[in-house]
Amino acid sequence: MQKLGWAKSGGPSLPRGFLKVKKALFQLPAEERTLEVALANTRLWTKSSKGKHLKVGEISDLQDCLQSYFKLEDPREQEVEAIRCMIEADLPGEGSLLSTLRSRLDRLDIEPGPGRQFSMVMYKRGGALTPEYLDDVWQHLSLCALLLARGKYKAEVVKSKVLYLSDEPKILCQHDFTPEDLRAAIELVQVTRDEILEAAETSEGFGAQESDFCFKGCSFRSKCPIFVPQAEKPPTPEVYIDR
Ligand code: SF4
Repeated sequence: MQKLGWAKSGGPSLPRGFLKVKKALFQLPAEERTLEVALANTRLWTKSSKGKHLKVGEISDLQDCLQSYFKLEDPREQEVEAIRCMIEADLPGEGSLLSTLRSRLDRLDIEPGPGRQFSMVMYKRGGALTPEYLDDVWQHLSLCALLLARGKYKAEVVKSKVLYLSDEPKILCQHDFTPEDLRAAIELVQVTRDEILEAAETSEGFGAQESDFCFKGCSFRSKCPIFVPQAEKPPTPEVYIDR
């Protein structure tokens, strides 16, 4: 059976503070976005709101990752729209059902040229480059491309780039999404949604299960029975009952 769900690539995650540094870097004038500036400010830019600094080992790991990044890209050349942003779109489903799908994107750039052209950038690190891993990455990219085309950005052209920030950094994938790619992504959304609905109908215990997603921006935690044991299961939407 095809795997349920989308957009979770395995492998070690980015070092703590990486996206904070990237955000601070891109707030500087283009000519100042250099490796030297990033390294000199790593400690300052990663300070928490309570004034805590990363540990020495964490800073050095983060700086290694920054060095890998600068081997692949020159941030002085990019026009960035957003860093670590949430993108979403309502996608048509059965009958009047609209599925609102969301995903996080490490970075969204504005591409030069006519029309609404965007480039999504994802950072990956570590993880064996198995077919399953690459398939996960591809699915995540496809979903994000769909959300960019159908959501508020109304992207007419979606480009993508996945930067692999290991000791031997490389561009893991670079792809311009075609209308056929977006159609395939829609089909995968529909198949996945049907499988989820089928699993919900046939399983007696379709309850919440703790996973990485719980800690990576789930906005339902305050209502989830895993974290709030007394929380009541929400009523099944009528559109599912009618199905
Ligand atoms: S917190 Fe609950 S609702 Fe959110 S991802 Fe985890 S299990 Fe799902």
